[in-house]
Amino acid sequence: MKVAVFGARGKVGAVMAAALSEAGHEVVGIDLGDPVALEGCDAAVDFTQPDAVAGNVATCVAVGIPCVIGTTGFDRDEVEREALAAGVPVFHAPNFAIGAVLMMRFAGEAAKHMPKAEIIELHHETKLDAPSGTAKATAEAMGGNVPIHSVRLPGLVAHQEVILGGQGQTLSIRHDTTSRDAFVPGVLLALVKVRTFAPGLTVGLEKLL
Ligand code: NAP
Repeated sequence: MKVAVFGARGKVGAVMAAALSEAGHEVVGIDLGDPVALEGCDAAVDFTQPDAVAGNVATCVAVGIPCVIGTTGFDRDEVEREALAAGVPVFHAPNFAIGAVLMMRFAGEAAKHMPKAEIIELHHETKLDAPSGTAKATAEAMGGNVPIHSVRLPGLVAHQEVILGGQGQTLSIRHDTTSRDAFVPGVLLALVKVRTFAPGLTVGLEKLL
């Protein structure tokens, strides 16, 4: 496939561009200030920043290119409108790491049996959005109304702990992303499957599994 990678010089985008090339795809890296050369592209990947997503998606879907969005904290309603109007599928996962998806699933299950819970999400200090998309999705999977604490420090990649409390006990469910390689298999899978989705925005790695 020929794949446009928006944000190819960023922390995640650089890992993704290298991994896509290694997997045999042709990569067109597009960063701020670069020409948006989408000719012949079969799909696009976006790991940029929240306010860049709608513009990048609009440019892609206008020429029929499906998008896989990794960026978090963007306006989902706007992207959904763009994708529907163009009749093109767009896929987003707040977290492309399989372990994080399992963490969310286990937290959702545990919340049915424990009366109270809180979420602590920890990320590198340059992450723009807080709370993280993963923390918000976890809270949703747990029925909402779960307090979220955000930590931003150098030395961190992406980590989350869900602590549930009950009578005389706590249960901790923790996921640690130690390398951005963790997001590669999910993005590769999304690139293969995005075309099979209905036009509009589909959210969640679990939809691919
Ligand atoms: P980063 O290192 O800041 O990289 C973002 C890159 O995008 C930068 O190179 C930036 O260029 C570029 N950029 C900004 N606006 C652009 C535009 N309009 N067009 C093209 N490129 C543009 O950030 P990161 O750590 O890689 O994270 C990127 C996003 O991915 C964040 O929203 C983060 O939360 C999300 N993320 C998601 C997952 C997931 O599994 N879904 C995992 C990790 C991260 P400049 O430096 O020149 O501004």
